[in-house]
Amino acid sequence: MTAEKEISVLLSEARNLINIPPAPVATMLVYHRIEDGGAPSLPDSVALTEFQEQMRHITEEGYSPMTVRELAALVEAGEEPPEKSIVVTFDDGYLDTYTHAFPELDFFRMPATVFLAAGHIGASTPFPWLGGNGGKPMDWQQVSKLHRAGIEIASHTYSHPFTPNLTKNELCLELERSKGKIEDKLGAQVHSLALPYSFPLRHPRWPSFRARLREALNSNGYVCCCTMQRGHISPKDDVFALRRIPVGRDDDLRLFRAKLEGCFAWTAPLQAFYQRFLKSYPAP
Ligand SMILES: [Zn+2]
Repeated sequence: MTAEKEISVLLSEARNLINIPPAPVATMLVYHRIEDGGAPSLPDSVALTEFQEQMRHITEEGYSPMTVRELAALVEAGEEPPEKSIVVTFDDGYLDTYTHAFPELDFFRMPATVFLAAGHIGASTPFPWLGGNGGKPMDWQQVSKLHRAGIEIASHTYSHPFTPNLTKNELCLELERSKGKIEDKLGAQVHSLALPYSFPLRHPRWPSFRARLREALNSNGYVCCCTMQRGHISPKDDVFALRRIPVGRDDDLRLFRAKLEGCFAWTAPLQAFYQRFLKSYPAP
């Protein structure tokens, strides 16, 4: 990770040194936990002070923030997104999305999309997939407040399974139950999905999974789907397999800036290689 960080920052500094303007890319950022007090406990957690700096940077550097649904509509129409388009997303539905991130989003008037593992929202125990190290989820009252403030509330499945292992019917049920529950609680439509866990778009199992996924998304009225595959967004992208850029505890402002300038996307092939050849996925 350190090498990835140093190279990305070097690329960013070289880009600015010779006055090349930042690439006109649209970027979706993915956050998980926002922690306060001390160093974040997990690699994909961000310290509150860093998060505040990042939201300030987006605001002061003239980015065009929007929700996933808004950016996906442009991609679907094949339209070029506005220059420096950016989407702030949060996965899972942690309590700290409400207690720590929301006040900053509100302060900076920052649009955002929150993906909920809907079956866990309102539980009194931490999300189970981080082995007891996970944060607690929000309750539905807190989700409602985010929704009323204009934040897009979207689906991250119902139980947070490794979706490529699900049958067509199981996958359909995960998408249907999650969307139904959120819509029932908020009285508003859900349009976007984010898949739990990362799964490579070039894996041999991707084409068959993609076919099941498309069918489940279409039959449940979803209009777009985000992945954990690293990369930026272009008008030619598949709206059912949108790439995102992760933000984690290593993101000081230099690395964050590099990520927004497109100087981190070079790591996407490394991620794909690791996932394709070195990582083992649970058998279906
Ligand atoms: Zn997740």
